[in-house]
Amino acid sequence: MMIYGIGLIVLVAGGLLFWRFPQLRKTWYLPKRRGLVALMYHHVGIVEDPREEQFPFTVRPDMLERQILFLKANGYTPISLKELEQAARAGKSSIEKPVMLTFDDGYRDNYEKLFPLLKKYNVPALIFLITDRIDSPGYLTWEQVKEMLASGLVDFGSHTCSHRRLRSLSDEEIAEELTRSKRILEENLGVAVTAFCYPYGAGGFDKRVRPQVAKAGYQFDFSTKKGINPWPWKGKSTLRRAFPRGGETLFDYYLQLTRGQSKL
Ligand SMILES: [Zn+2]
Repeated sequence: MMIYGIGLIVLVAGGLLFWRFPQLRKTWYLPKRRGLVALMYHHVGIVEDPREEQFPFTVRPDMLERQILFLKANGYTPISLKELEQAARAGKSSIEKPVMLTFDDGYRDNYEKLFPLLKKYNVPALIFLITDRIDSPGYLTWEQVKEMLASGLVDFGSHTCSHRRLRSLSDEEIAEELTRSKRILEENLGVAVTAFCYPYGAGGFDKRVRPQVAKAGYQFDFSTKKGINPWPWKGKSTLRRAFPRGGETLFDYYLQLTRGQSKL
């Protein structure tokens, strides 16, 4: 009887701790997975107050630098969009432990805080632009986009024209968001735009939205669904992404890379 009593107390106490402290809900007990880890970032900068809305979406430059060093020290290879394309075309790849650094929305801090790090460590990245917001306050300018593209380190994808939830739009509106943003980017940058990212992740697994993305001419679509992708990538489905949040530790980062998420 005694032993059951103690067992019950341990169970209840454990449950309470788990409920009270979300930090304990780490994913270390999930099986490790190998494959293509696409990391989803937004802002690079400093937000001091964890209660601020942008806190989880903002990774500190010094933390991002430590993450890049972690990748290099642990045999990960940051790959470019071109390397993803090559692997998808060939159906094979010699790259082991591939990682993609992706940045949503095209914030100006990507030029000011991220780009210097990419150059310092020779690491490629993929930035998803909202075409209506280019050249507006807080967002990248065309000049900055062109400079980053010319460096060979940064590729650009579409994140629609207006960043609305595609699932709430009509078929015509969806087609417009997909094709107009692609055309604007291609006309201004002079390169084919093959990657697309769903605003709020909405539509990545939707039977009405997703076929339109391929129809508009995109080869790769990125969601916000957490997870690690098969490698070499065959390009058959929507890519999942791991989401390193502001305020997370390097242990979280290790879990993101090996489990596709650091917390439940
Ligand atoms: Zn977005």
